[in-house]
Amino acid sequence: MRRGPLILKRMRWLSTNRSGTWQQGRRLLLGCGLVAALVAATACTKDAAVEASDSDANGYLCAKCGAKLYTDRSVFLALKCPKCGREGLLEVVGYFCAKDNHLTVVGRKAAPACEKCGATLSGMRLPREKDLKAWGATQVPK
Ligand SMILES: [Zn+2]
Ligand SMILES: [Zn+2]
Repeated sequence: MRRGPLILKRMRWLSTNRSGTWQQGRRLLLGCGLVAALVAATACTKDAAVEASDSDANGYLCAKCGAKLYTDRSVFLALKCPKCGREGLLEVVGYFCAKDNHLTVVGRKAAPACEKCGATLSGMRLPREKDLKAWGATQVPK
């Protein structure tokens, strides 16, 4: 009976001590994770991600009259087409084909085919002003 409380005390000491180191370890792990995430994020945004998600223009295709249009990056068009006045505007995105270096510009849809070689494309990127011009789009006056 005399050893009971002593063991209990010892166990409590062990458990508090263990939770202390566990918390420290967790904090260290969290810190490492954060640093790794930061490094990964800055490394990624340097090239591919910026290239894919950053553009200097917004491209649109009218589903009603087929007008190809683009605006400044800061200008966003509503659904209404400035050419025909009907509500048929679709925002367009680009899909790059690695086989022939051709950027296919289409309304947002899954896995379109390359305009040149017909290959199924993945890896969406936003078309830039020069891509939209090459596609045949005209700029919408502000
Ligand atoms: Zn239209
Ligand atoms: Zn192709």
